[in-house]
Amino acid sequence: MKFRSTRGAMAQTLDEALISGIAADGGLFVPDVLPQFHTDDFDGADSVLDIAKILLTPFFEGSRLADELDSILLETFAFPLPLTRLPFATGRAELLELFHGPTAAFKDVGARFLAACLCRLEQEAATPLTVLVATSGDTGGAVAAAFDERPGIHVVVLFPDGRVSERQAHQLTCWGDNVLSLAVQGSFDDCQTLVKSAMADQSLCEQYRFSSANSINIGRLLPQCTYYAATSLRHWRETGRRPGFIVPTGNLGNAFACIMTREMGLPIGEIVLATNANRIIADYLAGSEWAPRASIPTLASAMDVGNPSNMERLRDLLGDADALKKHIQVFTASDENIEQQIRQNYAAFGFAICPHTATATYAYQQLSQAVKDANDWIIVATAHAAKFELIVEPLIGDVVPLPDPLQEIQSKPSRSVSITADMSSFKKALHDRFCLDGDVPPGDK
Ligand SMILES: *Cc1c(COP(=O)(O)O)cnc(C)c1O
Repeated sequence: MKFRSTRGAMAQTLDEALISGIAADGGLFVPDVLPQFHTDDFDGADSVLDIAKILLTPFFEGSRLADELDSILLETFAFPLPLTRLPFATGRAELLELFHGPTAAFKDVGARFLAACLCRLEQEAATPLTVLVATSGDTGGAVAAAFDERPGIHVVVLFPDGRVSERQAHQLTCWGDNVLSLAVQGSFDDCQTLVKSAMADQSLCEQYRFSSANSINIGRLLPQCTYYAATSLRHWRETGRRPGFIVPTGNLGNAFACIMTREMGLPIGEIVLATNANRIIADYLAGSEWAPRASIPTLASAMDVGNPSNMERLRDLLGDADALKKHIQVFTASDENIEQQIRQNYAAFGFAICPHTATATYAYQQLSQAVKDANDWIIVATAHAAKFELIVEPLIGDVVPLPDPLQEIQSKPSRSVSITADMSSFKKALHDRFCLDGDVPPGDK
């Protein structure tokens, strides 16, 4: 299969799209033609792995990785994706828990798949690939964990010093020598500016081969389709009904995967997007112009996005606001709504949800009774509450126990390099760790 840019640049192979991350014309890679499936195509496939293999095989046609899809998927899905049935008083709803990976957020799925692909593609490269990732918290941890100790790949994580929680900071800074964690004295936007400047810096680009692991990379989207396919098929087989999905949304990566999976013919009913107070998507569907905004800080911080990049893919797939309105609904939750959901959910079910998941349980409650009753609903739980203990624990008046993978991470030693938010500090830190010839300097092995 070929992948083309949303802005029209010539089609490239999956391998090229994975390595470059973004198309040369600044657009995002999308499949040239979306494969179409029928539920029968999955007969005999029960596990996520088996379903993923069938779903993703067409995307790997012509890729050097085509014969390695099995092992890539095995590496990606080395943890469960359970459904928890929620005995909501009204309607039928379940929680799809995507947070049982190494860093306890759904981003582990995309990051691990991308890492598995890039390592295989880069095996014989002469100079290591340097993956840059600016993070406000969750992405950097998932990407660092996925690439930790991988030969031939260097990772540079840039995070705003003092603006991530202590626990999050630890998840960004406890990795092997191939991961350089930079505590930037500045904001998330400063981190992102440094990444963009580095990728546009000619002299740096002569010394390093850069790539990005942010959610614009098609390698993070494709594996996310697999849990929507597996979950909807399972529900369809058990009940004969197409479940609706409610997806917490920031940069529109996870939600786009859900929509794309439905467009491929999987048995998915309605799709509802849940956002925090960053309402750009809701306002667009209600008739406002699409204009990037500054992001507003909220309790669901991993969704604080003022300019969701994957809208470009969504428009490419379905059309503009008038068309989109026919395919999706959007609800926005305030911080107050989020707090109330966390409290209510704990009181009703005895377990804590994270602030991002809370936007989705809020959206569920906003649905009309008729809509709730007419569908079965799957609410996507994107992170473990223990990642956001400073928000969640005071609300529920209880401790959220750390899941095993997070406990393991917390016990590793942490190290980072502090830099000011300018290119010369960034370059110095980069050269100090990954010398010009790409080797790890002696004494730092
Ligand atoms: C990144 C993230 C989101 C938002 O996902 P997008 O793909 O950016 O829409 C939601 N919840 C959590 C916990 C996240 O880390």
